Amino acid sequence: MTRQLAMVIDLNKCIGCQTCTLACKTQWTDRGGREFMYWNHVETQPGKGYPRGWQEAGGGWSGDALRPGRLPRLAEDYGVPSEFNYDALFNDAREPLRPSTPPAWGPNWDEDQGAGEYPNAYFFYLPRLCNHCTRPACLAACPRQAIYKRDEDGIVLIDQDRCRGYRYCVAACPYKKVYFNPHAGRSEKCIFCYPRVERGIPPACAFQCVGRARHVAFRDDEQGAIHKLVDLWKVALPLRPDFGTEPNVFYVPPLSPPSFETDGRPSSRPRLPDDHLEHLFGPAVRDALARLEAEIARKQAGHTSEMLDLLIAYRHGDMFRLDRPKEAAQ
Ligand code: SF4
Ligand code: SF4
Repeated sequence: MTRQLAMVIDLNKCIGCQTCTLACKTQWTDRGGREFMYWNHVETQPGKGYPRGWQEAGGGWSGDALRPGRLPRLAEDYGVPSEFNYDALFNDAREPLRPSTPPAWGPNWDEDQGAGEYPNAYFFYLPRLCNHCTRPACLAACPRQAIYKRDEDGIVLIDQDRCRGYRYCVAACPYKKVYFNPHAGRSEKCIFCYPRVERGIPPACAFQCVGRARHVAFRDDEQGAIHKLVDLWKVALPLRPDFGTEPNVFYVPPLSPPSFETDGRPSSRPRLPDDHLEHLFGPAVRDALARLEAEIARKQAGHTSEMLDLLIAYRHGDMFRLDRPKEAAQ
């Protein structure tokens, strides 16, 4: 039976700093046809995200059948990384700095735009990576059996020797978290930093997270944050569960500030619309937020809360449990 290493990202602690994005990019995708790849990125919600319009690009499952998906376009949906006119700038101080090709999109194109009208505008950050799904559509779509899920930790990988670059996986992933490398002629994706994980070191995006927003542990480790937040307290939810791939990256949904009345007084209505949160995290989001709010109220009333202490993460090291629990290793 496959054991599953999983991640919980607390959206109430993500500050959109992109440290995770850069930790991943500089480690895995900074050259060699990978310039446009962001195995981890942070997008603003509501927004079109990266690649542009990924939520409407199809893929995933409809019951037991793969749902058709489309390939993102390089220039329009990812955005081609540009060179800048440094030579002209060096020789002529009047020359403005400009990119060689005006970009049409990029990994953080609609940052902080959000939605709503002042004073009830709203947005939040949504970090995204491959979900190392339990029912990976990418794996099912590959006619070469080049994609596999490891028994020891559930990490989904692409065998670069078997891949022929057909890109069925890119279309099939509803999160659009497989990328085609035009230099190598192969598909590539997040590897959950398995060379680090095998040495007991957390994935770079999680370890470097400035907001202490990311927990990593095995799903069946009852002392770990994933089991407690996902299975016991049910305050961490998968993204777009309707895609049917059973993701193993979970999110503590964002709490909302109050919206304002026309006279400027705060109302009892949340500023983040429930239906948007439900669209992203499914109907369970309402109960998850209610549980979170109840626990905050308990803590404010002077009671202890294991859930909040865990989410606060007083000690960085407590956020990661990569060792197999003794009983499971026997
Ligand atoms: S998120 Fe996409 S690429 Fe990752 S395992 Fe799931 S279906 Fe495959
Ligand atoms: S490093 Fe952490 S806080 Fe910063 S953007 Fe990434 S997930 Fe959010």
